[in-house]
Amino acid sequence: MGDRDSVASPASAQTGDSANSGSPAALDASKLNITLAKTLKPLQPIETLRFGQTFSDHMVVATYDPETGWSAPEIKPHGPITLDPACSCFQYGGNVFEGMKAYLGPDGKARLFRPDMNMRRLERSCARLALPPIDGDVVLELVKCLVNLERRWIPKESGYSLYLRPTVIATRPGLGVIASDHAILYILASPTGPYYQMVKPVTLLAVSENVRAWPGGTGGHKVAGNYSPSFLPQRNAAEKGYDQILWLFGEDRRITEAGAMNFFVVVKRDDEDGVDLITAPLDGTILPGVTRASCLALASDPEFLEESSLRLYPQEKVYTLSDIAKWSSEGKLLEALVVGTAVIIGPCNRIGFEGQDIVIPGAGMGPVGTALRKKILDIQEGRTEWKGWGVVCP
Ligand SMILES: *Cc1c(COP(=O)(O)O)cnc(C)c1O
Repeated sequence: MGDRDSVASPASAQTGDSANSGSPAALDASKLNITLAKTLKPLQPIETLRFGQTFSDHMVVATYDPETGWSAPEIKPHGPITLDPACSCFQYGGNVFEGMKAYLGPDGKARLFRPDMNMRRLERSCARLALPPIDGDVVLELVKCLVNLERRWIPKESGYSLYLRPTVIATRPGLGVIASDHAILYILASPTGPYYQMVKPVTLLAVSENVRAWPGGTGGHKVAGNYSPSFLPQRNAAEKGYDQILWLFGEDRRITEAGAMNFFVVVKRDDEDGVDLITAPLDGTILPGVTRASCLALASDPEFLEESSLRLYPQEKVYTLSDIAKWSSEGKLLEALVVGTAVIIGPCNRIGFEGQDIVIPGAGMGPVGTALRKKILDIQEGRTEWKGWGVVCP
């Protein structure tokens, strides 16, 4: 959208001059109002769950008005919301979201995995789109209230969980090309199973003609606008028989991410002493994943290295498709892993580029991916207590 559009926005369209008294109210979980659904939905057999298709009975909603600030949050039946079609979210895509999961432990308690990291990321995403300020700690309290209310929706089986989708949308009702001073926060809950049928390996098509993110852009934030431009390349990749895209960047074809997941390779070291666990650095083009950060933290944790008998050298560094091809031809490419909340850690067994495939031995997953996946799942599902990463919903 060009300058012409911005000029079209009359200053008078800005809602609320700052003459009103006091500062707008902050989001406050203690003001929560709960309206329960009159009838509860039947739970569906877990085998039939498809990611993000089934929703629980309730959702959290709070609205921000520039004069009054955040409304008292509500929990109410999951259902449609009504918005003016001129709203900023429809016109300019001012939307951000988070993805996190609640797991049921053997002790019957619901747990979140490092939710503080999701909340800090939500705050940063909102700030990047100049949305009204939001306190992630309060959003987390609301997430916990929803999880507790919807406990029956968390499947007990390993690998299953209640996926949570905190979302903030820009609801300024006007066409002015300016920051939205109105917003709605909502939190949806959706029971979910293994993203790919357990450890089914994914195939990736490396793409350089489209880019997911670029320096100075929004690729390092979970903003909605990053995702729909990836659907066409994704569909083209699927037509060629690949599950997801391996996003490259730059003349030197740097490896960035895989689909909407972070990406790691495990590479044998020259000195034969252990293996490198390599992922791209957070240079603004990479989404700072909670799972990514957890893999890196475990890989440098003496306790984890000891218990898993692995010798890992975690590296956040620039690496390219040619590096991967070279490591593969030298027999040094041991594993390729896609990581994120939905998949947790999964194998990639094949990378295609310009008609050629790099095949990863052992279908992509070896001792490193297996140990990281097991450890993270044990923490998430409450079988292991680990450095405060598992957070019980009281
Ligand atoms: C959400 C997301 C990830 C994974 O982040 P997690 O916090 O581990 O779920 C990776 N890449 C992109 C582009 C994402 O949107």
